Amino acid sequence: MTPYTPSPPAQYKRFHKNNEPFYKSKRLWITVGTGTVLFGGYYVTHLEKVPISGRTRFMDITPKQEEAMAKQAYSEVMAQFGHRILPRHHPYTQFVTRVAKRLIRVSGMDDTAWEFHVVDSPERNAFVLPGGKVFVFTGILPIVENEDGMAAVLGHEISHQIARHSAERLSFAKVLLAAQLTLVLFGLDPSLFFNHMTMNLMMLKPFSRKCEKEADTMGLELMAQACFDPHEAVAVWRRMEESGTGKGIPQFASTHPSHQNRVTYLQEKMPQALEKRAQSDCSSEMTQFADMFKQMWHR
Ligand SMILES: [Zn+2]
Repeated sequence: MTPYTPSPPAQYKRFHKNNEPFYKSKRLWITVGTGTVLFGGYYVTHLEKVPISGRTRFMDITPKQEEAMAKQAYSEVMAQFGHRILPRHHPYTQFVTRVAKRLIRVSGMDDTAWEFHVVDSPERNAFVLPGGKVFVFTGILPIVENEDGMAAVLGHEISHQIARHSAERLSFAKVLLAAQLTLVLFGLDPSLFFNHMTMNLMMLKPFSRKCEKEADTMGLELMAQACFDPHEAVAVWRRMEESGTGKGIPQFASTHPSHQNRVTYLQEKMPQALEKRAQSDCSSEMTQFADMFKQMWHR
């Protein structure tokens, strides 16, 4: 008789039961595979191009959902600043409206229910809420100095809205969540990779920087197309920098890249913008606007 030796299948079976590495589990791969196919399909069918810049991105927030979120933000801003909003006929409001309307006309978003509010408050700030509610604080007016400067600030802010950057940020957060779930399925602790700080440094910061650059490029193009002087964008950021010394970073710019980086970047994009401006029929545009505003005053 030969001594008993366990048959290979039995050995394999035992190995399978106790020591199998997690990545050899069929079930895990089926789950991850199905998940990847489903999410991949969802991802691919929710890719779209950003207007003007042409960049492809993932977006799964509908304009309706965005509008609902904007309503919430709008009522919060109104609760805080509503009582300090200057009347519509105030020269500052008219100044902002005049510049914004010219930008919106070339933005292709003239069917949005735009609203322009000037808040009598020293904050050096301006922003646009989804849905086209524009807020400009009187504190930023000395920095914008003139219509072209105002167009630089508004062009940037309106571009964030055209590109739907806030909705994209939420969509991007979902992708990160899917990545975290995958790590959990593999038995890895996502907090190793995704603690708050690394998430900020590695994912969200570059994402915001990308959005800022895109808004800068788009804004410069918009202001050029609307026949404003794009050089003034550079001048505004220089004034912003000067105003920042000793007084803290202007609120409008606090989440933005350094002014010097922005000036350099805008200067790089200047030839393109000037070309855009040359293509726009600025002499006849100006007469059209003059007519339009004459009509507005007489209403
Ligand atoms: Zn910005």
